[in-house]
Amino acid sequence: MPNIFLENDQSRCTETVWDKISPEEKRLIFALGEDYRAFLTRAKTERQCVQHLVRLAEKAGFEDLAEKTALEPGDLVYYIHRQKALFLAVIGLAPLTEGCRLIGAHIDAPRLDLKPQPLYEDHLLALAKTHYYGGIKKYQWVTIPLALHGTVVKEDGSIVELSIGEQPGEPVFTISDLLPHLAREQMEKKMSEGIGGEDLNALLGSLPAANREVKKRFKEHVKEVLQEKYDLSEEDLISAELCLVPAWPARDVGLDRGLIGGYGQDDRVCAYTAARALLEQTVPPQTAVLILADREETGSEGNTGLFSVLLENFLLRLLAAGGHTPDLATVRRCLSASCALSADVNAALDPNYEQVLDKLNAARLGGGVVLTRYTGVRGKSGTSEASAGFLAALRRLFNQQGIYWQTGELGRVDQGGGGTIAYLLAYYDLEVVDCGVPLLSMHSPFEVASKLDIYMAYKAYRAFWAGEL
Ligand code: MN
Ligand code: MN
Repeated sequence: MPNIFLENDQSRCTETVWDKISPEEKRLIFALGEDYRAFLTRAKTERQCVQHLVRLAEKAGFEDLAEKTALEPGDLVYYIHRQKALFLAVIGLAPLTEGCRLIGAHIDAPRLDLKPQPLYEDHLLALAKTHYYGGIKKYQWVTIPLALHGTVVKEDGSIVELSIGEQPGEPVFTISDLLPHLAREQMEKKMSEGIGGEDLNALLGSLPAANREVKKRFKEHVKEVLQEKYDLSEEDLISAELCLVPAWPARDVGLDRGLIGGYGQDDRVCAYTAARALLEQTVPPQTAVLILADREETGSEGNTGLFSVLLENFLLRLLAAGGHTPDLATVRRCLSASCALSADVNAALDPNYEQVLDKLNAARLGGGVVLTRYTGVRGKSGTSEASAGFLAALRRLFNQQGIYWQTGELGRVDQGGGGTIAYLLAYYDLEVVDCGVPLLSMHSPFEVASKLDIYMAYKAYRAFWAGEL
């Protein structure tokens, strides 16, 4: 019975999922953990995720959808959308008009974006203004090493890719905070107000330009370095997507190495495991589609987010490449016959803060992949809810295949809440449920996941595409 918690008092498990794992499977769990940790260290922006996963897909034989003129069952295709979202598909036995099996994850993560005009100087220091992206607790982002990543497009259209602070020899950036001795007023404030949004200014430099005639010599020196090393002017920073993210690599956590800590696991843990699962599909019963979307952390709005016609346009392309008439009626028919997993993380029960979750319904690290029937706030507002029938089909599938799973809920009733892309998929009149990895410290610079749950998510996604539903 793969849902262990149904059999046990949840506070004291006599039998854990780890007890059910064979030595061979344990080896696989740790091997996948190694691969994932390396991915997490290297893919710190949505663009880097796309590049990394396209390389993986190409190695596995996937081809650019734009170059296909016919599609057969078993064909492997990818479609890159504006360098920041990615679709991968394995063509299935059934025609697309009979529906497909979608898994949707997101590859954006909370971070500190540079403002369009970031550079300034103050008190002999050069700094950069930031505007945070996604939901963060601001106090977590000060006094840590930050790396600068991004893309600058110059006026002539040429592209400069930046990545500074990831390699051991490279400098990093940081945001300062008050010493405790002088923080009496700050410490009296509410945590949400202790660090202001406009106080998230990163240190960029501390040397003056040689030219004593210019007014702002510290800012000038930063501009000189940008020009000399990266061929960038201050105006170039306006047509840029630059962000600061934690500079550290993902690491094993704990003496027994059972956990992985790192930045951006929401939701790259589901994106990576789903991509690995898709790469192993041969000829699935229905076309297997993986959506890796951008902008989820800010509400999915924008031309790379799922609150758009992005998915419809992809299916139109897929229909056209497969020799079908690409019309929206067919896309609608396909989608309403489809089912989907919204592959996103959920909050794990934190031993330090167990009061925010209902213990009976909360997920644990090491409890397996989490099925979250609904998210939302204030009485399930702003969320879709999975149907009993679809959940039964998944239970059957997971139980048959030895996939350990648990249920989750995003917080106690009226504790707060949140959302995923599930409701945007449900919009198409298809069956969908959230299914992903539980995390501790979600949205922090160092989120924590269990290698066991990461592996179970991978197995769940693989079975969802390949199995009988
Ligand atoms: Mn997420
Ligand atoms: Mn999130």
